Amino acid sequence: MFTKILIANRGEIACRVAATARRMGIKTVAVYSEADASAKHVAVCDEAVPIGPAAAKESYLCGDKIIAAAKATGAQAIHPGYGFLSENAEFADACAEAGLVFIGPPASAMRAMGSKSAAKSLMEKANVPLVPGYHGEQQDADFLHGQADKIGYPVLLKASAGGGGKGMRVIENSAQFKEALASCKREAISSFGDDKVLAEKYLQRPRHIEIQVFADTLGNCIYLFERDCSVQRRHQKVLEEAPAPNMPAERRAAMGEAAVAAARAVGYVGAGTVEFIANQDGTFYFMEMNTRLQVEHPVTEMITGTDLVEWQLRVAAGEPLPKQQHELAINGHAIEARIYAENPEKGFLPSIGTLRHLGTPDAVAFELGGATPAAVRIDSGVREGDAISPFYDPMIAKLIVWGADRKQALARMAQALSQYQIVGLSTNIAFLKRLVEGQAFATADLDTGLIERNHDTLFPAAQPAPAGALALAAEALLEAEQTHGADPWSQTSGWRMNQAYSRKLSFTDEHASYDISVTYGPDGRQFSTGGQAARGTVLRDGDTFHVFTGGQHWQLAWNDPMAHAGEAESEGGRLTAPMPGKVVAVLAAKGQEVKKGEALVIMEAMKMEHTIAAPHDGVIDDILYNVGDQVADGAPLLAFKAA
Ligand code: ADP
Ligand code: ADP
Ligand code: MG
Repeated sequence: MFTKILIANRGEIACRVAATARRMGIKTVAVYSEADASAKHVAVCDEAVPIGPAAAKESYLCGDKIIAAAKATGAQAIHPGYGFLSENAEFADACAEAGLVFIGPPASAMRAMGSKSAAKSLMEKANVPLVPGYHGEQQDADFLHGQADKIGYPVLLKASAGGGGKGMRVIENSAQFKEALASCKREAISSFGDDKVLAEKYLQRPRHIEIQVFADTLGNCIYLFERDCSVQRRHQKVLEEAPAPNMPAERRAAMGEAAVAAARAVGYVGAGTVEFIANQDGTFYFMEMNTRLQVEHPVTEMITGTDLVEWQLRVAAGEPLPKQQHELAINGHAIEARIYAENPEKGFLPSIGTLRHLGTPDAVAFELGGATPAAVRIDSGVREGDAISPFYDPMIAKLIVWGADRKQALARMAQALSQYQIVGLSTNIAFLKRLVEGQAFATADLDTGLIERNHDTLFPAAQPAPAGALALAAEALLEAEQTHGADPWSQTSGWRMNQAYSRKLSFTDEHASYDISVTYGPDGRQFSTGGQAARGTVLRDGDTFHVFTGGQHWQLAWNDPMAHAGEAESEGGRLTAPMPGKVVAVLAAKGQEVKKGEALVIMEAMKMEHTIAAPHDGVIDDILYNVGDQVADGAPLLAFKAA
């Protein structure tokens, strides 16, 4: 077995690989870009080597830098994770030339499966069923058009070199063909540098079912059952589960054997996934083979009690597969949800920012390879305070749950999602919760159109904040005032003693504004909304109150009646910073005459800009900070004399 490996990846998968290596007593070397110098994957490895700028092309995709790092640190093998160089045959060859073991399949198998067209030709010979279509060399537009007419619409065009749900076009009728082909080829050349396409029948309401296969160098090849990854958005996976609901044992065996035949046909070694597209009646066809560890591998680990990274390391070191086919059995049910920094309401647009607060469900530490799977496992490459940058995949974590059956797994998933608390960027957590609680997923009415088909229930009209959430926000606000001695209303001294006093608090969110009255009486405070009994967590971020209650996240902005008091008091006085932040622009000079409302200083805080404007016509007496200075909350920024 190796004594030291280099992990040529970042994020959750680099951490995931490092965890197994550590458990096996293998030292780990991380590589990192300039954007990742203080990333979690660097912290969890024994050594770390910088490999260049943030852009993946200049760091994580530079095979030569990574190989040099492995040589310099004395690593014997390289684990590529998924994405990046994991399916790059030239990199695998370069590792071999440098005397390093590439922890993955032989380069020849990667090449054979790298082109969807060539892979389909090979599979045809191995008698693996294919979706009816054309996957030959001919790329002439008229010829392809004829093939599409022959297949019968709807037809799916795919970039042969495609991946990650990119480079696909659905064509509804013959008239749409020419334009769709041109646009598919454009995307294929720009994303994959290769404009070769294939055409196949576009199945109606299909399921995506894939088989985990594993082969060793001694000629053993087995399957570790299936995963159902039908719940997708834009042909990308959102939820994955194992086993596939309603899978008869005979079909499981047939798919498993077809997958093993596919792997054997290319001399496969290591972990691989054969993806099938299946009709509702169960008929299935080969789609592609991913020649690497898959994002969703944990659901397989949970139902089979295996550690697939350990298997990868053993196989790469020349050992036989730890188990044979007959020793494997399915135990219970596992579901994975991909938690992304994205905005489902805005077309799943990625969201960039800092994880200012990260509260996770109570995860029982997953015992890798242990006999009893943990109920909740979280695979993540980020910690509170870390940023989701624009450079890489915006995945925050994978949340994986196990249950004795699907029903229990579902309940645990809903519960765990309710406990996830993230402040600082948009996430898909609320969307995932609606998804797992929705009728379609709960009853396993699965197909790749599930999200679109249930659009109305998955994207409900915005609900006003409930009374409980408002009461929690108000409570948090008043507590904070009390600790800072800023709540004159709650002082029970003097004449207020026995009289009830009322104060109005006002909050707004994206959809509505809310007034809530607090009455101070002899029995303490009372809220007009009722709902004091609500339980939850409140995180305050400036004047925004993040209320987590009932499994939901409400963002309530407090309309501070004193917010402009600073300006009112600035007559002949000072203008202060509304929150801690950085000065990004100073627009006025000492001695300058300014008009009311004129922008004087721009500050940046929480990735947002705040303009400090002149409260009146006047003269700038002094400027107290320069561009780039960090200023504290309430710090005077400039001295101002009203005209
Ligand atoms: P990628 O390399 O991007 O993963 P795949 O060939 O695996 O491409 O297809 C991705 C997804 O596109 C599938 O999971 C499925 O949802 C959809 N898809 C692919 N082929 C078909 C088809 N013939 N009919 C219907 N949907 C398909
Ligand atoms: P899968 O079938 O496992 O979803 P895909 O073929 O769709 O895999 O894509 C490969 C996976 O690698 C994706 O899930 C994608 O999020 C991940 N990935 C790709 N590039 C990066 C990256 N730069 N950083 C982290 N993950 C990445
Ligand atoms: Mg795929």
